[in-house]
Amino acid sequence: MKIIYEILNILRRAKTMNYEKVSPINVNSRGIPIPTLTSGESCLSCKSCEQICPTHSLKIHSKDTMSFDYGACLQCGRCSEVCSNGKIIDSGFVHVYSVDREVLKVTYRNGIPEEKSETISEEVKQFRKITAKTGFQYREVAAGGNNTTEAELNASFNALFDSEASQIRVVASPKHADALVYSGPVGPNMEGPLNTAWETMPSPKALVACGTEAISGGLFQLGKRPKEPDLFIGGDPPRPDVLISAFRYLMGIREFSFRTELFKYVQNLKK
Ligand code: SF4
Ligand code: SF4
Repeated sequence: MKIIYEILNILRRAKTMNYEKVSPINVNSRGIPIPTLTSGESCLSCKSCEQICPTHSLKIHSKDTMSFDYGACLQCGRCSEVCSNGKIIDSGFVHVYSVDREVLKVTYRNGIPEEKSETISEEVKQFRKITAKTGFQYREVAAGGNNTTEAELNASFNALFDSEASQIRVVASPKHADALVYSGPVGPNMEGPLNTAWETMPSPKALVACGTEAISGGLFQLGKRPKEPDLFIGGDPPRPDVLISAFRYLMGIREFSFRTELFKYVQNLKK
């Protein structure tokens, strides 16, 4: 019986996620809120959604123009719930990451996101030159968060998400790390330790803001970071497949543009 089971195991397809084909949309997740306005249509401009947003990441500018800062959005769903007019929906779009913070700030006119290309810094280019071939190792610092991001980072090493298969590993000492991944809004007591970890690391190196709080503070005031991060991953917390996809993108082995994918999603929505 045991032998038959072992043979069947060999024939079974691996359950590990295929990151070449992973979709930015996860139908089981709430994802970022997206307006549903079409050309010539207007919302009530009642601003209920703006007022209920706990992080002030949503602004209603006029009846057909609104903006979201997806680097501050907790994906809590309160804005879509409060809109009795159905002009904002939860999209299931969870791949919210970029090397350019400004890319995560999106203005929609008639429901269409404005165009913005991504600026890639010299530091990221240098980082990619090495890590695209070798992968990278990171040290994680919990900088005042609630440990949900750490739970997802832990899960990214399980058999389903398999971080190490993408050559992404964790190390104990920042001296051995290529990247510093931090979570949380960087409380006053964590500014020093985060900076010390960063200063200890050899170059080229990358700083990764992991989760909405690490990008913008979320519900809290954002503390002082060693420098402007090189990668911003939104979500409170981001799912493990989002984390690994974002790391692969940082390494330069995943082709991804947040704005392009968002535009495609919105176009499909209108069909
Ligand atoms: S999107 Fe909905 S809740 Fe927000 S201002 Fe328009 S009608 Fe009001
Ligand atoms: S999902 Fe929550 S945090 Fe994001 S814009 Fe809506 S209300 Fe604000």
